[in-house]
Amino acid sequence: MLTEHFDFIVIGGGSGGYAAARTARETREKVAIVDSAQSLGGLCILQGCMPSKTLIYSSEVLHLAQKGKAFGLDIPAAAINMPALHLRKLDIIKEFSDYRQAQLESERFTLFRNRAKFIDHKTIELDDGRQLTADHFMIATGSTVSVPALPGLSEAPCWTSDDVLELDFMPEKVVVLGGGIVACELAQFLRRIGSEVIQIQRSASLLKDFPPMAAVTVERAFLDEGIQLYTNTKLQSISYAANEFTVNFQHQNEMLTIRTPHVFNALGRRPASGQLGLDKAGIETADSGHIICDAMQRTSNFKVYACGDVTGPYEVVHLAIMQGETAAKHATGRPTHAVEYDSKVSVAFTDPQIATVGLSENQLKERGIAYFSADYPFDDHGKSILMEAKYGYVKVYADELGTVLGAECVSKDAGELIHTMAVAISLSAKVQDLVKVHWYHPTLSEIWSYPLEDIADELQTTGGVN
Ligand SMILES: Cc1cc2nc3c(=O)[nH]c(=O)nc-3n(C[C@H](O)[C@H](O)[C@H](O)COP(=O)(O)OP(=O)(O)OC[C@H]3O[C@@H](n4cnc5c(N)ncnc54)[C@H](O)[C@@H]3O)c2cc1C
Repeated sequence: MLTEHFDFIVIGGGSGGYAAARTARETREKVAIVDSAQSLGGLCILQGCMPSKTLIYSSEVLHLAQKGKAFGLDIPAAAINMPALHLRKLDIIKEFSDYRQAQLESERFTLFRNRAKFIDHKTIELDDGRQLTADHFMIATGSTVSVPALPGLSEAPCWTSDDVLELDFMPEKVVVLGGGIVACELAQFLRRIGSEVIQIQRSASLLKDFPPMAAVTVERAFLDEGIQLYTNTKLQSISYAANEFTVNFQHQNEMLTIRTPHVFNALGRRPASGQLGLDKAGIETADSGHIICDAMQRTSNFKVYACGDVTGPYEVVHLAIMQGETAAKHATGRPTHAVEYDSKVSVAFTDPQIATVGLSENQLKERGIAYFSADYPFDDHGKSILMEAKYGYVKVYADELGTVLGAECVSKDAGELIHTMAVAISLSAKVQDLVKVHWYHPTLSEIWSYPLEDIADELQTTGGVN
């Protein structure tokens, strides 16, 4: 069989893969993309960021409407219209996926709608038997839902996030397994559309990768909204019979059993690296299945790069894109730089949202960096009080010269507000400069000026490190 050769082949046309293909195509003629999905677009557009944020935003509007009285409004019983919500989501997603499909199908690339695997160090085989070689490859195959080894879990017909995002009816009762970002975002969505929600989390708090004060704030909001929360648990087993799940778990030395028509498995995702024939190409993976890469995203086979969820270390779209661009520039011999994670932004689209940027307090301590910090609560801030958005706080960390190293924001629209500090960190701005910004009143953003002023004052009075 004739083997076709390309300058650059990308396996997986999601966010990371498309970014790599587009970047490689800037200087190379023959760029191919191989994607086996029935619908093109990747996780972010089809089953991740965009559908989830579309639904979450609608549920926030509903929540505000239901709180009408607090705003001095008389809104007659606001309620969810699930078929309409579902259709709106489909319409919005179609617009994004049509656009991405057109980009992938453009004549700038050769698109193969196939599954691919490596058969040696420089050749992939498609599921129709065709073989392709390339100067360089990019693996951008993403991730799949993980099903941990829990008795009964793999046999029980639990929902994944894909199923929750496809709902066109309001489920009466759902048990949510897990306390990560996807679990929390969709648990609150389900609660807000009217479901009884019971969330079971192994760790002592939800959202354990975020600062403890942030997680506690979200937990308080969840409890206030009526989510039944069990933290510090140990799941024992799950079974399914006669249209009913039985979930057994240990909580505070007690064995508890919950019966429910629906279970949402939000226990995490794993890299989609298992079916790629990586051993044939000399590509090493970590125990987690993540493809091991160097700073230029090169795998242990230097002709092959990886980006996005399949390599990590974070399952976030903008990082997948940055990694894809870095890799493609490196593969095509152009100047580039490693993706820098010390100024990383993270957002959980709960309400209040959690957003962080830069180094966390734990990282500052681990690295032995002396720092100043100050925080300020939203329940003492003009704009958030008039918006009835009083959960949360902002916190800023700066070094002994005043350079901002990290920030936390828990609030309504924290995912927007954090970008002020993201810009500050990217530009190595100092608190002494940031206090001179024209912070407009009354805005949510002006809340940053309080911790910035506190740190600036402290630096001036102490002239040193605390
Ligand atoms: C519910 C949910 C909400 C999320 N919300 C956010 C958010 O708000 N913000 C954020 O930054 N991130 C969010 N994420 C994470 C984000 O969606 C992912 O990190 C990102 O989309 C991963 O992109 P990727 O390019 O690595 O992989 P993907 O977009 O998953 O692309 C992988 C592609 O590879 C193809 N493929 C796989 N194996 C093969 C093969 N062997 N041969 C050919 N093709 C193959 C697949 O068909 C797929 O198209 C969310 C995720 C979920 C599940």
